[in-house]
Amino acid sequence: MTLAPPPLRNDCFALPAGVDWTPVDAALDHLRQNLTVVTAAELRPSGQCLGRVLAEDVFALRSNPPQPNTAVDGYGFAGPAGEGPKVLPLVAGRAAAGQTYDHAVPAGYAIRILTGAALPQGVDTVILEEDVTCDGAKIAFHGPLKRGANTRKAGEDAAAGDLILPKGRVITPADLALASATGLSELPVRELLRVGVLSTGDELVEPGEPAAVGQIYDANRPMLLALLAQMGFVAVDLGKAPDDRAALRNCLDRAATQVDVILTSGGASAGDEDHMSALLRESGAMQQWRIALKPGRPLALGMWQGVPVFGLPGNPVAAMVCTLIFARPAMGLMAGARWVEPQGFDLPAAFQKRKKPGRREYLRARVRDGKVEVFKSEGSGRVSSLSWAEGLVELADGATTIEPGDPVRFIPYASFGL
Ligand code: AMP
Ligand code: MG
Repeated sequence: MTLAPPPLRNDCFALPAGVDWTPVDAALDHLRQNLTVVTAAELRPSGQCLGRVLAEDVFALRSNPPQPNTAVDGYGFAGPAGEGPKVLPLVAGRAAAGQTYDHAVPAGYAIRILTGAALPQGVDTVILEEDVTCDGAKIAFHGPLKRGANTRKAGEDAAAGDLILPKGRVITPADLALASATGLSELPVRELLRVGVLSTGDELVEPGEPAAVGQIYDANRPMLLALLAQMGFVAVDLGKAPDDRAALRNCLDRAATQVDVILTSGGASAGDEDHMSALLRESGAMQQWRIALKPGRPLALGMWQGVPVFGLPGNPVAAMVCTLIFARPAMGLMAGARWVEPQGFDLPAAFQKRKKPGRREYLRARVRDGKVEVFKSEGSGRVSSLSWAEGLVELADGATTIEPGDPVRFIPYASFGL
């Protein structure tokens, strides 16, 4: 059962004319409003659904608990029990989890009952085993005890027909517990979004190969492939392309038949060797977004034969930040998920910083002793800073001066699904 959604519009990255420096939030709003799901829906055994995106709302087939049951080991009877000492004779037999007691317990009698057992007819209240004395034939205890004490009501967790998991949710281990507890063995999920990663630049060589003067090893491709895998997409290695327009065009043509989204890095500015942005502009749907973001610009967005292309900057720090901030929520929408805003936490700064107005800034950061540290250099070629960091500090678009102890917004990598 596969049903492919309609293709994305070719102008889905077009920004209003006259916009120069686009604030981060405006760029995000734009992506949010113009991207839609591209993956097909399928029904899968729930054991295969961890990390998948739900294609439909999911409703409980059965209540949890299905019947009232006891939350403790003890003795069940018809409540309530009033003040003072009580003595109740026991019926023969017992009720245990999975072993129901098939008769009614008469009024004035009690029954031995174990955690998880469905309450027998005539029982609505349970007293803890530690609170009674028992001689094998009867129990004695002190009241009072409310009706329903130590029991769980039918459907108190989820009732049959309740919405348990909303469309667009990414399935967690706990969701699998909820689905199973409410009787579901299959879930309607989306096929995984396939995302291709292409590095561009004449200077790039593969790790393990000899590197001549002026050449560098490709840092972005292994990073982007791994980020995508952690985010729950199918990462497709498209290799690298030279700074040659025809060769790059061929790479994009081939990629567009293989994947749902293309991430490229490098060549996204407006310079002579920036063939990525040139090609996307040629394709007619290119938007060179001058986003008011540090580190990050330029980000070239376009459609190549119906496939969205995120032309990321070549600098590894900018490539990663743009992937986390822009590509991730956008790819999430295309994968059928809801729009996600990474959860940040306000913590005291362990650093000092003066920031000019006009652009959003992300610093590589980590938390030590409850305080946020930032990397010693802001250079966007510092691959080691990405590895050092455990998240980003987000500094709002306006001017700020941060002194040690001031609260700053820390977004752990985990908040980006990593
Ligand atoms: P570009 O955006 O192509 O002008 O590249 C900007 C900087 O990022 C240059 O210093 C490039 O050498 C560097 N760069 C581009 N792609 C990569 C890559 N895949 N790995 C590491 N550095 C890169
Ligand atoms: Mg380049």
